[in-house]
Amino acid sequence: MAILKDQDKLYKTNEDICTHLGDDYAKFHGAIVPPIFQNSLFVKPTPNNGVVTDYVYTRVANPTTEIAEKKIAAMEKAEGALCFSSGMAAITSAILHFVRSDSHVVYVASGYGPTRNFLTKYCGSRLNVSTTAVIGTTLDEIEKAIEPNTKLIYLESPSSGVFRMQDIGAIAKIAKARGIGTVIDNTYATPLYQNPLLHGIDIVVHTASKYMGGHSDIVAGALCANAEIIKSIQHNEREWLGGIMDPHQSWLLTRGLRTFPLRVKQHAENAKIIAKFLENHPKIAKIYYPGSDTYEQKELFDKYMTGMNGLLSFIPKASAEETMNFIYNCKVFQYGVGWGGFESLIINLTVGLTEEEAKNQDCPANLVRIHCGLEDHQTLIEDLSQALDKMKVQE
Ligand SMILES: *Cc1c(COP(=O)(O)O)cnc(C)c1O
Repeated sequence: MAILKDQDKLYKTNEDICTHLGDDYAKFHGAIVPPIFQNSLFVKPTPNNGVVTDYVYTRVANPTTEIAEKKIAAMEKAEGALCFSSGMAAITSAILHFVRSDSHVVYVASGYGPTRNFLTKYCGSRLNVSTTAVIGTTLDEIEKAIEPNTKLIYLESPSSGVFRMQDIGAIAKIAKARGIGTVIDNTYATPLYQNPLLHGIDIVVHTASKYMGGHSDIVAGALCANAEIIKSIQHNEREWLGGIMDPHQSWLLTRGLRTFPLRVKQHAENAKIIAKFLENHPKIAKIYYPGSDTYEQKELFDKYMTGMNGLLSFIPKASAEETMNFIYNCKVFQYGVGWGGFESLIINLTVGLTEEEAKNQDCPANLVRIHCGLEDHQTLIEDLSQALDKMKVQE
């Protein structure tokens, strides 16, 4: 088949988007894998040499980076996307798009730690930004938290520890009516299973270090929004703070995206089986897993999400010390931060926190989080099972 000029119109589903959209075979000599434009600058045409290029400098835009951006925008049903050198670079750029000195920000307490620290500590002390943390499960609480100078409501739904969800459509409505910006960290749901822009949210942020990259070999981020916001962030926060994703990282991200829908499906399949195993295990007090029938916010899950991933948390019936012993006794699940890669991981999210600190982060004591990797589910169950057998119970 010939390479069509408007080939991208053929690609409609997330699977199609990840395998082909934006690859621009016509432009890149039919190369099935697009090249890495590993150059800092693009020479400009003189009036008579006929060279046409839209690109100037790789800190502003690069063709390799744009391939990943086209795929992410299409999955997120956004007018545009921008890639960044990390999730935090995308998150801080999205926040700075809305926040000025003396602004007030409402944010969810169970959100990603460095995001909370950027808002409260960095913006708090250097820009005199004030903040109000909310649990985010009722609209009443959100409305009460809004001040006359509130410029941003920052959401993370589901969050990545206890998987709290917010009614994103209703919150977007409340914010819009008051001229307040909204940002959501959509990393957990992924663009495959939740599209917050369709519910009125202004900016969706992702860390691509997790499932999008999927191989634990890049730190990367992206944000999605309408064309106006994209243009503004591209030429303000991204161009001036300089946090664009580099071409080689972009190429690796595109490579990861090829199998993104397939991988997440397999992670979710493993997690579903392991959630059942843990739910029925006598040494487990409680599990946190949005895919389970006992998930407290099932109504919101059904309203906004269409699928699951490989991440879940639980509280073992054990002391803090014995919980750590259990974690160290796991051999396939390795002790480490992060998630979304091929490998299974386990971590105690409250280790080193006082009870008060854990409460402020909307996180119960002794919360253990696991990421179910792509290993055989039977291997994973056997690993957890042998470590739980050794664990001394404390009711
Ligand atoms: C990991 C993570 C981030 C930060 O992303 P980096 O790419 O590590 O900067 C942000 N939000 C969530 C929910 C995360 O899990």
